[in-house]
Amino acid sequence: MSDDARAPLPRLLSIDDDAVQHRVLAGMVRAFQHARYECDHALSFEEGLGRLVSVRYAACLLDYQLGQRDGLALLHEARRIAPETPVIMLTGSDVPEVDIAASEAGAVDFLIKSELTPRVLERSVRYAVKLGATMAQLRTLALRDELTGLLNRREMQTLLHDEWIRTSRFLRPFAVGLVDIDRFKAVNDVHGHPVGDRVLRHVADLLQGRLRRVDRVARMGGEEFAILMPETARREAQIAMERIRAAVEAAPCVIPGTDVTIPVTVSIGLAVSLEDGDGPDALIATADKRLYAAKHGGRNRVCWEA
Ligand code: GH3
Ligand code: MG
Ligand code: MG
Repeated sequence: MSDDARAPLPRLLSIDDDAVQHRVLAGMVRAFQHARYECDHALSFEEGLGRLVSVRYAACLLDYQLGQRDGLALLHEARRIAPETPVIMLTGSDVPEVDIAASEAGAVDFLIKSELTPRVLERSVRYAVKLGATMAQLRTLALRDELTGLLNRREMQTLLHDEWIRTSRFLRPFAVGLVDIDRFKAVNDVHGHPVGDRVLRHVADLLQGRLRRVDRVARMGGEEFAILMPETARREAQIAMERIRAAVEAAPCVIPGTDVTIPVTVSIGLAVSLEDGDGPDALIATADKRLYAAKHGGRNRVCWEA
């Protein structure tokens, strides 16, 4: 048996309140000629949403008439919670306005159930899956920093704005830490740029590995990183940043294939929403001021006041 044959099959999700209809679809999927899929079924939109958030589906087949709810509203919701899963809309009758509205709402195809054959469905799924993979690649390129794999500055700014809107409505705090490697220029000067790059990845991995799953880390540029900690008040944020600082200090960067070990330390400026700035940009400015104070105070420290 080849490795490919043992790999789990990609999954499709059909959301349809008609179990007979689902069995017809699943039968067609089994009759595909060129690709094989596991086909899951959700009988209600709520069940479908639950599955979309917990499983990575190659594509979703969404029934337009699902109970009492409007198919387009359902489509919007599916796009919001699982933006990387392409959605093919299925409908009982051919209504051109719905077809156009569905494409505007982000459906990748619109199929009429009575016209479905395994061949038609297979082709639609093939294009949808390909488009989904391309979109995922583009998303990665647009949101990630190439060197470290962390989020990039633009994505962090988007997250900060979203978090600010969420927080100010519910009056819940979140914290931002700006992390800058100390005397990093000297690493490049002494060991060369490729070693400097390795140190950047080393610090990125440490930051990523030592935080909660809900915390988000970005490389803001050069040797500066930002950490967004949702639902985090000042005291907890101080503890988290102090832990990060200590972890970096305790783990010098080992350069493989050499006997070079580079000690690394970071300085961190911390700001907490609602107290330290009136808006995301002001919050970052406060964190930046405190980062500067940490540098002035002797580096390898966290600053949360001044
Ligand atoms: P400080 O403790 O005050 O932060 O000193 P520093 O040397 O870390 O700060 P400075 O801003 O003077 O130098 C940052 C250096 O980071 C300069 C630049 O060459 C280097 N750098 C920026 N981006 C990269 C990168 O992608 N790779 C490497 N290897 N170096 C980078
Ligand atoms: Mg620096
Ligand atoms: Mg810097």
